[in-house]
Amino acid sequence: MSSKRFAVSILGAALFGWLLAVTLPDLGWLSGLTSILQTTYLAALKMIVVPLIFFSLMSGVLKLRQAGSLGRLGSVTLLYYFTTSAIAITIGLVIVFFIHPWTDYPPIGKIAADHVSLISSDEAGFSATIGNLLKALFSNPFAALAELNILGILMAALLFGVAAAMTLPEDSPVPRFIDDTTQVVYRVAGWVISLLPVGLFAIAYQLTQQINYETFVSLAHFALVVIGATLFHGLVVLPLIAWVTTGRNPIAFLSRVFQPMMTAFITSSSAATLPLTIKTAQEQLELNPAKSAFVLPLGATINMDGTALFEGIAVIFLAYMFGVELDGLAIVVVFLVTMLASAGAPGIPSGSMAGLQVVLLAVGIPLEAIALVLLIERPLDTIRTAINVEGDLVGALVVDRWT
Ligand code: ASP
Repeated sequence: MSSKRFAVSILGAALFGWLLAVTLPDLGWLSGLTSILQTTYLAALKMIVVPLIFFSLMSGVLKLRQAGSLGRLGSVTLLYYFTTSAIAITIGLVIVFFIHPWTDYPPIGKIAADHVSLISSDEAGFSATIGNLLKALFSNPFAALAELNILGILMAALLFGVAAAMTLPEDSPVPRFIDDTTQVVYRVAGWVISLLPVGLFAIAYQLTQQINYETFVSLAHFALVVIGATLFHGLVVLPLIAWVTTGRNPIAFLSRVFQPMMTAFITSSSAATLPLTIKTAQEQLELNPAKSAFVLPLGATINMDGTALFEGIAVIFLAYMFGVELDGLAIVVVFLVTMLASAGAPGIPSGSMAGLQVVLLAVGIPLEAIALVLLIERPLDTIRTAINVEGDLVGALVVDRWT
């Protein structure tokens, strides 16, 4: 389905669900049907989380081996990607610390978590929580996969990925196998996402009955905070990084990368924009073709500033809406897990929905909470994807200048 049609069908489905809920609120069969559809859709989203995050992280680590073998080029690229992702999450978390207008309204209330929170502990106290975190990190990988223990899964993917990268010979078929499997998992994730209109119709119908006007206002406030923070990162921070590190005039830079950013905005997919991103790097920014051919595909896979920023704010918002307390340690976990989750998100429309679930799981927020964000997710994806692509292009500039 073309991206324009997809966006229209999503909007139409959500509106249709809302209209039906307003006009036919007490229709038993419709309520039953949408409840089943909502539960099934959320279950399907949940289904892809574990394979997606496990395989995409492992294949990411194996790709880093290639980067490592490229010496300075690889290290500057990785340093840039990690630094700017960390900056993006920090901006999101700092902004949301000061600006959280939704707390003027009451939260929706608690829903029971279907997994063990890594942060809260029965035995009170810092050391007990640290003990829990360590236990979760170093648990049996198979148990971690089956029990949705997200820290255990991340640890296993990183550990086995690094071990594979260090042990396997250059011509080993294993990295290829992992990469192929990741593509298959991406395909399944793509199918689930293409059913979003159906899921959203049901979610809109159900939520309209359960939540009130104040929740919609909270959701609008959340969207505005995300848009403001994302634009700040894209229009101020990234051009500033480009200016400081390479001397490029920020306005001239933005006008040269406008086309791929617009394409990313319209398609909501950094992967689909990649050919144009590479062309722009080579023709508009006049960068070394070999270097940008390495930096940009890696960036489209692991460097997602807009996504990282969005996920950080979304978790804080949902924690409030569903009455989950986040202490200092939980914020550190949000920061670290968001770094990994954004790197593991596929560059497709709504690709970060699986990653967002990962961060929710890590701090004990029930996965059902994601339904609320799904309502507003589509328009936000346009802007964050544009910023994801801009971040990759700034990366290509920096690497070109410093290698
Ligand atoms: N749509 C984003 C991208 O392609 C991923 C996401 O944040 O959903 O970069």
